[in-house]
Amino acid sequence: MNVRVLGCSGAISSASDAAHDPGGTTALLVDEDILIDAGTGVAVLTDDELALVDHVFLTHSHLDHIAYLPLMIDAVGDARDTPVTVHASRATLDILQAHIFNNLIWPDFTRIPSPDAPGVRFEALETGEHVTLNGRTVTGLPARHTVPSMGFAITSDTACLAFSGDTTSNPEFWATVCALPGLRHVIVETAYPDAQIALAHAAHHYCPSLVADDLRGVQMKAELLISHLKPPHGAQILDELRAALPGVSLRALRAGEVLIL
Ligand SMILES: [Zn+2]
Ligand SMILES: [Zn+2]
Repeated sequence: MNVRVLGCSGAISSASDAAHDPGGTTALLVDEDILIDAGTGVAVLTDDELALVDHVFLTHSHLDHIAYLPLMIDAVGDARDTPVTVHASRATLDILQAHIFNNLIWPDFTRIPSPDAPGVRFEALETGEHVTLNGRTVTGLPARHTVPSMGFAITSDTACLAFSGDTTSNPEFWATVCALPGLRHVIVETAYPDAQIALAHAAHHYCPSLVADDLRGVQMKAELLISHLKPPHGAQILDELRAALPGVSLRALRAGEVLIL
């Protein structure tokens, strides 16, 4: 199983350097056919690659994680003969239906081109539940954000990757993740530097000291890959994480890299 990072930035930005190139906003491609979030990082896919995506798992309804979903459903219609399946919590699916696929912001592709052969179908997946697709299992993990949200564990026959989605302090996530067999990578968001801890609390995101608080006493052997860094604070956030977590293996997740599981 390959996990290709299409984008992992906390905002759209043209700024990047060799150590920190996050690309667009959150999107991970599992093999060729499973998308985890559909942020602006999806823009790097070719038309052919886009048409191969059969399943989209959404952590939550915020625009930086769904921006490309309505556009891609429209774009791949002629190239596909089956609907794209969107897996998310019932609450997130209800938000998408009410506020995106509502025939005002975007057509209701759950009913067009026809109710029998729509462009997209919704399938509810709640925290703790899982879906297995050709040997790859995606499991909903707990998250704490300003809207209904979850992370995902993505498991192959041999290894596992955990992704926090957007979250603030979340001991349940780490307890769940540490019990996952074969855990190799943990992608965890750290949106803000510690100077913006009030904003982290208000927006329900992590800052370095909150990550360190959650990891105190946790036996974390997997590598931490940091995502959702808010430009222009990426380098500062990473420095603060390294200072707060001595001995923990961590680095910034990079757009374009492929994690092999
Ligand atoms: Zn969010
Ligand atoms: Zn976000």
